[in-house]
Amino acid sequence: VEVTVIDRHTHHLFQPLLYQMATGILSEGEIAPAIRDVLRHQANTNVIMGEVTDINLRAHEITSSALDCEVVTPYDSLIVAAGAESTYFGNDSFVEFAPSLKSIDDALEVRGRIFNAFEMAEIETDPVIQAEYLTFVVVGAGATGVEMAGQIAELAHYTLRSNFRKIDTTSARIILVDGLPRVLSALHERSSAKAAAHLRHIGVEIELGLMVRAIDDNGLEVVDADGESKYVRARTKIWAAGVRASPLGAQLAAAAGVELDRGGRIAVEANCSLPKYPEVFVVGDMMSLQGLPGVAEVALQSGRHAAKEIVRSLHAHQPRPFRYHDLGTMASVSKSYAVAEIGRVRTAGFVGWLLWLFVHLMFLTGFKNRVATVFHWTISFVGGGRAQRVITTHQTHGRKALRRIEK
Ligand SMILES: Cc1cc2nc3c(=O)[nH]c(=O)nc-3n(C[C@H](O)[C@H](O)[C@H](O)COP(=O)(O)OP(=O)(O)OC[C@H]3O[C@@H](n4cnc5c(N)ncnc54)[C@H](O)[C@@H]3O)c2cc1C
Repeated sequence: VEVTVIDRHTHHLFQPLLYQMATGILSEGEIAPAIRDVLRHQANTNVIMGEVTDINLRAHEITSSALDCEVVTPYDSLIVAAGAESTYFGNDSFVEFAPSLKSIDDALEVRGRIFNAFEMAEIETDPVIQAEYLTFVVVGAGATGVEMAGQIAELAHYTLRSNFRKIDTTSARIILVDGLPRVLSALHERSSAKAAAHLRHIGVEIELGLMVRAIDDNGLEVVDADGESKYVRARTKIWAAGVRASPLGAQLAAAAGVELDRGGRIAVEANCSLPKYPEVFVVGDMMSLQGLPGVAEVALQSGRHAAKEIVRSLHAHQPRPFRYHDLGTMASVSKSYAVAEIGRVRTAGFVGWLLWLFVHLMFLTGFKNRVATVFHWTISFVGGGRAQRVITTHQTHGRKALRRIEK
């Protein structure tokens, strides 16, 4: 077989560690190796950079473009794995004030905004504005939100406390907001309660049952179930409230005449193929099958299954249904504390954290990246420092500047 990988980016991104990039622990190279380098020993594989704009199911052709260069790639079999993107539930203007954490760009912007907020607080003379700079709000208390809030708390209360002369970084407020009644709602109630207790212990304020109604430069308005609203003053807001399957899913579903679920995912056949198109497979975060969640392990296993199905079809073998092997769920709350659920076994604390470190290290692509990551984890988790604190004007202010020019 000949394999062509088409991606709009030149890197393969390990999203579970984006929050560590955003808080200065890891660099982008460590979690995002070049796709061509990952595949350099696979001689039958070609890599094309380009945004897929059209999938022609009848002609068996993919159209992708990069700048003004358009490429048409024919296929015999196709695997669509375009993942998901952050959703603001119809309030797309929120992105300007509360970037999410889905790409390298996002993580660099969030890093820029966090470290910039401390710098601004140091030079600000108005105590009200200074307090706004020292207040950080994370919207969404799933794994990403919890990990983000925990890391900002560690930065403020530990890493940065000796770096500034005028402000006391330990006075920073880190607020975690969610519309649901508990944090980490995908985990068991006990794991969720333990994570919440630890978050409070490290100085994170948890505000549950609140929906975000509006966001601006200076803060955000939240409203509870009774319609009571309040305005929280905070210059730095981070959105970790939800994802929706790639828009490529809607395009593919329309072309194939199949339904999308509420998350924009395509309902596939038992072997991950597109209904009526047995040569096309939809896997990972774009796939709706047996209620499986949008997590890395589902993506890995379904991708592998689709590849095997293609090989089987070459030998005229019958399709095989995809069976998911659940390897567990975990979230790191802070340095030395994580919650993990593997089958019926639940653990929280240092053991959970060691498990978390091990699993994430194993899934990171590339030996060099693993070594570099262990080195930076040692700096951060043993010494308390952060090796990746570079922020640039473009990263910090680029999106806002662009939006204002557009307006
Ligand atoms: C911040 C964060 C933390 C996470 N933490 C965890 C965790 O701890 N554990 C866990 O199991 N899961 C976690 N996940 C979820 C996990 O990362 C995803 O489930 C997994 O990456 C999905 O894999 P995928 O291949 O379907 O999509 P992705 O990994 O998103 O890959 C999609 C690829 O398609 C490309 N693409 C998209 N659209 C186009 C287009 N039109 N043209 C060309 N290329 C395109 C993208 O550039 C990307 O390379 C996390 C996700 C995020 C965002």
